[in-house]
Amino acid sequence: MDFLRPTTWAEALAAKADQPEAVPLQGGTDVMVEINFAVRRPPALLDLTRVAELREWSVGGGECRIGAGVPYRVVVEELGGVVPGLAQAARTVGSAQIRNRGTVGGNLGAASPAGDSHPPLLAAGAVIEVESRDGGVRTIPAAEFYLGVKRSALRPDELIRAVRVPSAPGPQYFSKVGTRNAMVIAVCSFAVALDPARRRVGTGIGSAAPTPRRAEEAEDLMARELDWDAPTLDPALVERFGRLCARAAAPIDDVRGTAAYRLRALDVMARRTLTWAWNDHRGRRAA
Ligand SMILES: Cc1cc2nc3c(=O)[nH]c(=O)nc-3n(C[C@H](O)[C@H](O)[C@H](O)COP(=O)(O)OP(=O)(O)OC[C@H]3O[C@@H](n4cnc5c(N)ncnc54)[C@H](O)[C@@H]3O)c2cc1C
Repeated sequence: MDFLRPTTWAEALAAKADQPEAVPLQGGTDVMVEINFAVRRPPALLDLTRVAELREWSVGGGECRIGAGVPYRVVVEELGGVVPGLAQAARTVGSAQIRNRGTVGGNLGAASPAGDSHPPLLAAGAVIEVESRDGGVRTIPAAEFYLGVKRSALRPDELIRAVRVPSAPGPQYFSKVGTRNAMVIAVCSFAVALDPARRRVGTGIGSAAPTPRRAEEAEDLMARELDWDAPTLDPALVERFGRLCARAAAPIDDVRGTAAYRLRALDVMARRTLTWAWNDHRGRRAA
């Protein structure tokens, strides 16, 4: 197996263009597990850990740009105020060791339906910045990035450079059901993001369909019927929101849970997270 070690982004893109079958390696918390368990035996590994710019993040122009090599630990410690939904999700990933190595970029590269970054990225309307030597830079909205189970819109010669998440214009929440509190793959998960100025409620569903996805009908319902100035949230509207979020999913029975359980859990998580976010919204208005 070849081990490619570029030290610059240009070298990394050149290596990927010359050897598209080379598997990128960031934190290695997915890749090395697959290699160690002989799930995968790629002809080459493309180690990106020496590419300094992938570890950079910045906030400005109404968004937070997170390099593909920024570990979850940094998202939790530094970015909670700007992208709270993603930071909450990052907090639930694996253990301290995994959060220290694992990255949002790697989560996107793996494109597992159970990846915890995906629901908050969908809910917030994030875009993924990808690049190839010959094709240049493309930005892909999160909603168009996930194509199938562990399949994404990334082309063979492309690498993920960064993810750009709008700085939260309102409250955001992430919720995850697992069989225990830590080191667990989600049975299912849900994220909500409020944008009071645009009168928009964003959603993201994880681990309950072949790909992470939005609950578009639920979002449309809120766009039509949520009274942002009302003192309280209409319980009937919350019920309908929960039902539509569950209806957007297409879960299966597997070792982690049944489809029926996932639908029920999504309904509950959607109602809960919406209520938490709404309460924060009301609190901010009152302050
Ligand atoms: C014990 C344990 C617990 C875990 N718990 C969770 C959890 O709770 N939630 C969760 O979501 N995940 C969990 N994971 C999975 C893993 O930690 C995450 O998916 C993590 O985000 C992967 O990031 P990484 O940097 O380690 O990726 P890597 O393993 O380096 O790469 C993952 C994939 O992305 C590709 N890739 C990496 N960087 C790029 C790039 N720049 N461009 C293109 N492709 C790229 C790789 O080729 C590979 O296919 C866990 C893993 C372990 C071992």
